Amino acid sequence: MSKIAIYPGTFDPITHGHSDIVRRATQLFDHVVIAVSENTHKNPVFDFDERIALTTEVLANNDCVEVKGFSNLLVDFAREQNADTIIRGLRAVSDLEYEFQLASMNRKLSSNIETIFLMPDEQYTYLSSSIVRQVASLKGDISDFVHPSVFQALTRKHN
Ligand code: ADP
Repeated sequence: MSKIAIYPGTFDPITHGHSDIVRRATQLFDHVVIAVSENTHKNPVFDFDERIALTTEVLANNDCVEVKGFSNLLVDFAREQNADTIIRGLRAVSDLEYEFQLASMNRKLSSNIETIFLMPDEQYTYLSSSIVRQVASLKGDISDFVHPSVFQALTRKHN
């Protein structure tokens, strides 16, 4: 039976940090579903369709990766995708509190879905979608941190 994992997030927008986690996940699982969340308290800069389109474009060259949007409960969506593992990225201790809370809630909601945490390459430890958006909004160069399509999309947003 193939091992399927789900990697949920806001992806507003996808950065090289997210892609690093996806690459690591594909080494552990046969199939990885990147689940772009519609419902977010984060007030995203890119709308739901844009976040799905950009994430798909960035990850297009990987056969075992699929990008899907979801708007229901994560554990329900994971079940619909036949995934029994949730992947999350851990950058620093500061991520831990929120991630611990999320994983504990998901375990409570569905005890047979495990959350596993993957660490990115050190160079992406300080990278987040929000810092990329901030720098881009002030016309700073973010080309080292995102795919060229994301770079163009951010440049368009801020012009
Ligand atoms: P969410 O709103 O669900 O936190 P994000 O897109 O911000 O959505 O993050 C999705 C997941 O990817 C989270 O587990 C986050 O910790 C992880 N992540 C984000 N940026 C990085 C990065 N630079 N390196 C590793 N993991 C990351």
